[in-house]
Amino acid sequence: MTARTEVVAYIALGANLGDARATVQQAFESLATLPSTRLTARSALYRTAPWEASGPDFINAVAEVRTQLTAPELLLALQGVERAAGRVRSYRNAPRTLDLDVLLYGDACIASPALTVPHPRMWERAFVLQPLADVAPQRVPAPALVAVAGQGVERLGAEL
Ligand code: ADP
Ligand code: MG
Repeated sequence: MTARTEVVAYIALGANLGDARATVQQAFESLATLPSTRLTARSALYRTAPWEASGPDFINAVAEVRTQLTAPELLLALQGVERAAGRVRSYRNAPRTLDLDVLLYGDACIASPALTVPHPRMWERAFVLQPLADVAPQRVPAPALVAVAGQGVERLGAEL
């Protein structure tokens, strides 16, 4: 088999059911164990009020990984982590507690039905751009952060 090169990818983590902080922390641990993938940076955790919705606050973060998985393989792996985290109890259609989105996969531009990269809504979302700027400031132009600065996103302490 030909050796694959490693690609730097950024993954958005979000949770708002149950113990959302614990879910996001556990998700980082799960990303660290994905096949052919290294977890190379984790942002701070951020707390966000639900956007045009009611319900508990969201906890958001961004992970940097270096992976030999292709982008579709990475998405499938993330969906496996989502499923594992979503089953707080194993009953049918249990609410999903974790959302994992591929924000960036190297410099790739992908537009398939299952996967759009860069993530099409990331530039509108402070809860994505702020943690992304923690781990990849070079990927977040200053005007992009300014454009979402009015959104109420609270950075939580590193001790969490
Ligand atoms: P959302 O993240 O929009 O709240 P879901 O997590 O349920 O909703 O994702 C819905 C679909 O989005 C998935 O079936 C997946 O195939 C697709 N998708 C497209 N682009 C991406 C991406 N960059 N990261 C994650 N999922 C994506
Ligand atoms: Mg998603």
